[in-house]
Amino acid sequence: MIPPIARRFVAGETVPVALEHVRACNEDGLRVILNRLGEHYDDPDDARADTEAYLDLLDDIAAAGLDACVSVKPSQLGLDVSDDLFAEHYREIVAHAHDLDAFVWCDMEDADTTDATLDAFASIAADYPWRVGQCLQSNLRRTREDLDRLVDVPGAIRLVKGAYDEPPAIAYTDKARVDEAYREDLRLLFERRDRGIAVGSHDPAMIALADRLAREHDADYEVQMLMGVREAAQRDLAAQGVDVAQYTPYGDKWLSYFSRRVRERRENLAFAARAIVGR
Ligand SMILES: Cc1cc2nc3c(=O)[nH]c(=O)nc-3n(C[C@H](O)[C@H](O)[C@H](O)COP(=O)(O)OP(=O)(O)OC[C@H]3O[C@@H](n4cnc5c(N)ncnc54)[C@H](O)[C@@H]3O)c2cc1C
Repeated sequence: MIPPIARRFVAGETVPVALEHVRACNEDGLRVILNRLGEHYDDPDDARADTEAYLDLLDDIAAAGLDACVSVKPSQLGLDVSDDLFAEHYREIVAHAHDLDAFVWCDMEDADTTDATLDAFASIAADYPWRVGQCLQSNLRRTREDLDRLVDVPGAIRLVKGAYDEPPAIAYTDKARVDEAYREDLRLLFERRDRGIAVGSHDPAMIALADRLAREHDADYEVQMLMGVREAAQRDLAAQGVDVAQYTPYGDKWLSYFSRRVRERRENLAFAARAIVGR
């Protein structure tokens, strides 16, 4: 069972509970990006099981007529086993989404996985244009070059600041520098694309910048935020007419996801500590 402390960030353990959450979000004007929790599988059977779960989930979303898509993790689809196994599973999910007129996002994990993840994205997007979107992390020094490389790839880009601790040789580690990189990357995205831009951030300054850039370039974009983080702002933005999607994890493997959310914010650490000591 998911402990109450983690429920702020995780919809529930099962698909029906997750779909109920989607329905409630849709009623509030939010689209939902469902992520089945799971990562770093070294057994190909686990990667296969999650791939099949995503295929079924896409069917369930379509059958229920909900406004939702999915977001997969490379190591959940088998990247720790082999690049090929991951790419094969990823392609199968996107092909199924294509048949259902649905959409698939791919999260970005630690920097050791960036090359294989981007290779798979570029190849699958070429075969299934605008059916797939990839997360890029502004804390990585390489991201500017990756944006150049992906400029003509017909897939969406979700820009985030980056949730993984990386060494200074390859990443900006100072928060102000990461924020600056995020602004620069966002400007580049709007200069080069008029669709497929997702602002994966809760930071009001970045959301305001995206709004300005979208007007300047007459481009479409969406804001993506996590379940449990600035939920009132998500609903306010949607009410103002901004396209908002809530990234919603579900499933029983909640611990590492929850730990990343807690590490991001000192207040969450205090909240977690209070829940553990029961006050
Ligand atoms: C939709 C989405 C998908 C993501 N996918 C990935 C991914 O694939 N790979 C990856 O590395 N990272 C991913 N991230 C996480 C991202 O990299 C950041 O770690 C996270 O979003 C915090 O950065 P921020 O832009 O919100 O800005 P921050 O400057 O960190 O935060 C801005 C404000 O948002 C609020 N806030 C932010 N985080 C929290 C929190 N955990 N709890 C409570 N309040 C908070 C606070 O009010 C804070 O002041 C994703 C984030 C989102 C929103």
